[in-house]
Amino acid sequence: MSYPDAQTAALALRPDEPVYCFRPDQLAADAEAFRTAFPGRTAYAVKTNPHPLILGGVAGAGIDAFDVASREEFRLAREAAPRADLFYMHPVKPASSIRAGLAEYGIRHMAVDHENEVAKILREARAAGIDASELTLFVRLATKGHAVYELSRKFGAAPGHAVELLQRVARLGAQAGLCFHVGSQVLQPDAYEQALKTAQWIRSRAGVPLAALDIGGGYPARYGRDPKHDAFPVPSPGELLPSILRAVDLAGFSDIPLIAEPGRAIVARSLSVIVRVLLRKGQRLYINDGIWASLSDSWTGKLTLPVQLIAEPDRLRPKGDPDRIVPFRIMGATCDSVDILSRPFWLPETVKTGDWIEVGHIGAYSLSLRTDFNGLYPDTFITVAAPFSA
Ligand SMILES: *Cc1c(COP(=O)(O)O)cnc(C)c1O
Repeated sequence: MSYPDAQTAALALRPDEPVYCFRPDQLAADAEAFRTAFPGRTAYAVKTNPHPLILGGVAGAGIDAFDVASREEFRLAREAAPRADLFYMHPVKPASSIRAGLAEYGIRHMAVDHENEVAKILREARAAGIDASELTLFVRLATKGHAVYELSRKFGAAPGHAVELLQRVARLGAQAGLCFHVGSQVLQPDAYEQALKTAQWIRSRAGVPLAALDIGGGYPARYGRDPKHDAFPVPSPGELLPSILRAVDLAGFSDIPLIAEPGRAIVARSLSVIVRVLLRKGQRLYINDGIWASLSDSWTGKLTLPVQLIAEPDRLRPKGDPDRIVPFRIMGATCDSVDILSRPFWLPETVKTGDWIEVGHIGAYSLSLRTDFNGLYPDTFITVAAPFSA
């Protein structure tokens, strides 16, 4: 079903369960904005939102490469974009998925951060009759920096180890690449600049030809602003990428192909969710969604989500000024006591039981992290034309 905007949809459907509002034009515009700002190859990170509506929109916007991490992601990406290149950038892979990737999906680009992973991949390639020279193995660097979500505690080789890995990959006859992923919702370019300096040092020490540099994901999306917490305005990809590209240049990488793996920056704004206030208790709102459904990313990242009240018509309002915006504590739908959002929703003080709230910019890490805990699994989608506005 299609609606001009979320308000019209909420008042027509009067939904008691969450309803996702998909905005194809927003998705196309944000994908296009990234591609315009980034001169290399854009590989959309499928885990950010693997829903066919989203993958179809990403492919429709001309993105022809996908960062994938499992057989199911290979399948979904291939279904949305039959001719796209798949980059298997999970540093630790089951042999059976490597085999399927090589044989069924034509995957030739993979990440590694340990010699045994290199051996595992080359063994599978040999068994499939694929020459090592057809493969590009990207050595993943450990990075440090300020991201809202930090990932280097889990993956990545330290600089000295990365030098050895590059030399090993080259010696075994595969193409060598370098990659890093500095985290997610990275608000300043310094994390990338630091990683690029490390990459430069590694390249100079390794002394092997590099086939490509993959600078990963992490580009931020705009959310709401909490007057108490959020000091920085969030840069758009168009604002952040020029500084990163300058750092790429300075580190001497403008001579080889570049790849980026954006997720959040492309899809965040393409989806909102209409939730309902099941009960208001003072300054607390109990809603029909929460951290076990669409909103866990905001909980982990302590993000203030932008919201719009859709008031139930013809009802008496609690006393107050509808123009006064105040913080409400948001209690999630499940019986779990951790299911309380880490940041409030800022709403008119007259909000009441039965009202709807449109929660904007939830396209990243929402659908992919939904659970059916307590039997509550939102899965209703509509298409909405107007952009979200808080
Ligand atoms: C999750 C992930 C991405 C996407 O990150 P965003 O912050 O959504 O841009 C890209 N690359 C790798 C390796 C990832 O793990």
